Amino acid sequence: FGYENFRTLQAEIIDHIVAGRHALVLMPTGGGKSLCYQIPALLRAGTALVVSPLIALMKDQMDALRQLSIRAGCINSSMSIVESGQTMDAFRRGDLDLLYVAPERVMSPAFLQVLDSVRLALIAIDEAHCISRWGHDFRPDYLALGQLRVRFPGVPCLAVTATADAPTRREICERLNLLPEYTFVAGFDRPNIQYTVIPKRKNSRLQLLQFIRRWHAGEAGIIYCRTRNRTEKLARWLCTNGLNALPYHAGLEHTVRQSHQERFLHEEGVIVAATVAFGMGINKPNVRFVAHLDMPPSIEAYYQETGRAGRDGLPSSSWMVYSLGDWMALNGRITDSEMSESQQWVERHKLNGMVGYCETTHCRRESLLGHFGEEYSGPCNNCDNCIAPPDVRDGTVLAQKLLSTVHYTNQRFGAAHVIDVLLGKDTAKVQQHQHHQVSTFGIGTELSLRQWHSVVRQLVAAGILMVDVAGFGALRLTKASLPILRGLHTVKLRHDLAITHDQKGRESKQPQPGHRALFKHLRVLRKQIANEQSVPPYIVFGDRTLVAMAEMVPRTLTAFAALPGVGKVKLDRYGNRFLQAIADFEAWSTDSK
Ligand code: ADP
Ligand code: ZN
Repeated sequence: FGYENFRTLQAEIIDHIVAGRHALVLMPTGGGKSLCYQIPALLRAGTALVVSPLIALMKDQMDALRQLSIRAGCINSSMSIVESGQTMDAFRRGDLDLLYVAPERVMSPAFLQVLDSVRLALIAIDEAHCISRWGHDFRPDYLALGQLRVRFPGVPCLAVTATADAPTRREICERLNLLPEYTFVAGFDRPNIQYTVIPKRKNSRLQLLQFIRRWHAGEAGIIYCRTRNRTEKLARWLCTNGLNALPYHAGLEHTVRQSHQERFLHEEGVIVAATVAFGMGINKPNVRFVAHLDMPPSIEAYYQETGRAGRDGLPSSSWMVYSLGDWMALNGRITDSEMSESQQWVERHKLNGMVGYCETTHCRRESLLGHFGEEYSGPCNNCDNCIAPPDVRDGTVLAQKLLSTVHYTNQRFGAAHVIDVLLGKDTAKVQQHQHHQVSTFGIGTELSLRQWHSVVRQLVAAGILMVDVAGFGALRLTKASLPILRGLHTVKLRHDLAITHDQKGRESKQPQPGHRALFKHLRVLRKQIANEQSVPPYIVFGDRTLVAMAEMVPRTLTAFAALPGVGKVKLDRYGNRFLQAIADFEAWSTDSK
């Protein structure tokens, strides 16, 4: 594989599986989960069965393994009958090291019969959180996988996931009959991702454009939006602003969707504006930013989506704008859903956790990792709150003004009207309800409209105020409101005065100055090789390898072999071509001097 050492826990997990035991493995995205079953697959006799719900990911891993001359195959719905027939034949003959297969295929009687007749090295279940109803991405197909464990009790089973809180973990172990003590948790932290959350303004697209231009010009990224329509409009608008953007959602025609995904994977610097339909199984390591124009419904979803940035370990951003409107829309969706009462309660609970994260004035990493049960104490110096600590002040009087206004207007109005009253605006609604006679009318002019919205959000996140979704978004008092109105409790509030957080302290993912021209030159060769084989460029070499190559300028095969990500097979395949490219580049640049 060409790596210098194992990463945290990889070696332990590999030993554990090779010894024939089972395990639940939690590792952050990009942490190197696949190695944990790929190496045991090679070390143990027989074929490793890898269950994965993601066709794109299967194909990607298969291509990457074939680059290393490992015998990998996959079976999924996108293949022709002839292709799957050939793969199944090879599998029956024991000619495969790994076979990737979709969950609904595994459990078909015909496939199970084949499984009975071959030797299995291990069973790996990718995205294992999909088996849990508590998890954020439950898939009914996954439930049946528990039967695999019953049918093949002697085959080591490895369940891997990047996102699972404590209840989800418990459920995975129960359903797959894994011993909870065989759980490996390799830290959820993604230190190379910088987290930023800012209040959404009217023109959130402009906020986004400024962010991209400033920090990620020309780089690949994913922008998540709630609706299909919005992805299309946004992509078009970004294109008119000179960016290379494409929409992606489940309503696009299959071929269009496919081609947009291909372009994202194969070209450099493509931005995809997508619904959550995009990303599962996108293994592109050099996604430099993930942006959310709408708040996701849970921290798990948020963390999984943001986790698609920076798999290669180089500096990347997770950026989000959110508003109380987002919260209301998501809450409304839960209310309107067919879910049972108890499931709705779970979803609301998750949503409130998400709002709490958005409103936190502390280190965001601390809050995220805490959510996954990992102790971490900031500052991390790589989130907006650590880089530019928010101005937190005593906000008791502001809270009292707001809460009184809610009270005096009979808890029947939404944030917009309550704020109008505080600001003393003479609107039609104010006149209609005679709210200029309310004692708090016009007593809130020390804050702007935007700042009052921020106060509302913070009080809602703190449970001091609630939004009655069934009552058209009316603000209502809670149990926690009274002590504040009476002056028994105080509240601290963040003043969103300077909303433009600056991002500082970023290390470079580009090669050092002086090596960039060579980097670009090598990128061309990488693309050419990728095209020859119809694989994405990063399957040939990751950015980390290419940056190192541009900086170290190897001139011999020995020096080339020392680059990170260069193993024996890739050395043989590509070493000479890249050395030649380096020599050509050097000759050319001396000539032109
Ligand atoms: P995950 O499935 O956990 O998201 P992958 O298994 O796809 O992550 O690995 C992410 C990246 O890390 C890949 O580019 C892989 O080549 C690289 N990687 C894995 N293990 C190591 C290691 N021990 N040393 C260096 N790079 C590694
Ligand atoms: Zn921080």
